[in-house]
Amino acid sequence: MSERQDIVTIDGPSGVGKSTISRKIADSLGYTYLDTGAMYRAVGLYLERNTIDLADEQALAQVLETIRIELFPARTGDGEVGVLLNGQDVSEDIRSPEIAMVASRVSAIPVIREKLTRLQREIGRLGKIVAEGRDTGTVVFPKASHKFFLDARPEERAHRRVLQLQAKGEIVDEQQILAMTLERDKNDRERLIAPLRQAVDAVAIDTSERNIDEVSQLVLEVVKEKRQSY
Ligand code: C5P
Repeated sequence: MSERQDIVTIDGPSGVGKSTISRKIADSLGYTYLDTGAMYRAVGLYLERNTIDLADEQALAQVLETIRIELFPARTGDGEVGVLLNGQDVSEDIRSPEIAMVASRVSAIPVIREKLTRLQREIGRLGKIVAEGRDTGTVVFPKASHKFFLDARPEERAHRRVLQLQAKGEIVDEQQILAMTLERDKNDRERLIAPLRQAVDAVAIDTSERNIDEVSQLVLEVVKEKRQSY
């Protein structure tokens, strides 16, 4: 266990409750919460706004040199992580379903994954973080001490997204959100580098029939139990 990093990774497709659960776990353990998806969203937003040609890897690599991404804690207790993109607050802009799709597209590009993986490892260098995403247990922190993989039925995940967006006052079409969820799943699972999959040493939890508190409690129990066995 000694070479393990003191890191909790929580991976899975969208809408399984990863963000809320990861924040809760980080709060309980006194760890920093790392939302890796927010970084992919920020890069996606930048490339979209500046109409950068995604096929031109060289140009992309140059542009990436100039992008600065900083995460800051949510302003409200249970809110999402905030993001500064080259010093500009884009916290709201990155959370739309459209930018989620853009993020899914750009996250398959090697230079982008390299840059963000490097940044994420730098943030996790000293441990004591809860990292959430698609590849945090498989690629970013393969030596994390505690790994989880959350999943749930696509219809249930899409429904949760709809409720989240409605809570923000947005009018959404559930069928369209389901179609976007399925497309994003497919992109994330089938891409060549760092595809979404369960790490062999991750604990799998189906959240379809469990609420946030039940899953959080389960995760904490597993973390504490494993710590006692070190
Ligand atoms: O988790 P979130 O929905 O914010 O992630 C947005 C997109 O960013 C995902 O659909 C995925 O394509 C990409 N992503 C990734 N690797 C991560 C986190 C997110 O490829 N570790």
